[in-house]
Amino acid sequence: MKITFLGTGTSQGVPVIGGDASGIDLDNPKNWRTRSSVHVECCGAHIQIDAGPEFRIQCLKNKISWIDFFILTHGHADHIAGMDDLRRFCDRLPGNRLPVYSNEYGLERIRAMFPYALKEKPAERGYPCFDIKKMPDVLELPNGLKITSVALPHGPVETLGLAIEGGGKKFAYYTDCKRLTAEAFNLAKDADILALDCLRISPHPSHMSLSEALETARKVGAGATYFTHLTSHIDYGKLEPKMPPKCDIAYDGLSVEI
Ligand SMILES: [Zn+2]
Ligand SMILES: [Zn+2]
Repeated sequence: MKITFLGTGTSQGVPVIGGDASGIDLDNPKNWRTRSSVHVECCGAHIQIDAGPEFRIQCLKNKISWIDFFILTHGHADHIAGMDDLRRFCDRLPGNRLPVYSNEYGLERIRAMFPYALKEKPAERGYPCFDIKKMPDVLELPNGLKITSVALPHGPVETLGLAIEGGGKKFAYYTDCKRLTAEAFNLAKDADILALDCLRISPHPSHMSLSEALETARKVGAGATYFTHLTSHIDYGKLEPKMPPKCDIAYDGLSVEI
């Protein structure tokens, strides 16, 4: 299984337009963050999770040339805004229609933002075309690939927490959440890799702070935990050396093979 962090930034990206007072070291390329998304290759399938505003650039940089299906964790703009650029992948698929999974909130936002992409086939050649479906609790796919989903509390909405299993490996992707439910906790316990929301140092009502993310990572005890969805208050050069064992700060373009 190959996991590529296409983006690891919070909703505004890092740095924010006009700069801020965080003092983050912008000479360090690991502190330049596009909106959070991840690409997983496993059992011969290419799975794309979320597509933010920089999705096209992320695909070009990371040489993503194929997607078999797409999962939207939730309908917030930093995860959905790049979905029109899935058109290129629709174009390459047999039937030109991309399977798209999300929760009710995500599907509602897709219907509102991309009504032209919800036909049986592309409205015009090269248009996006999505076959939208509610993400089941367990999605069984060919070649032994299995994806389990759980709801994660994210302020007034819920995010899909995902555990991808295949080839004897397990990757849990828990972005945009304030805490883990008991179900989410148990699902990630035996993961080889856990990617976890870690917004900033100070508390936030709908995201984990650094101390909350560290405590959650310690309790879950996954093989390795990578923190993502980071603001400019998480300076890679300052904080990565202080991370406890098995915890790391993710960065754009980070690729992990398990
Ligand atoms: Zn987000
Ligand atoms: Zn969100």
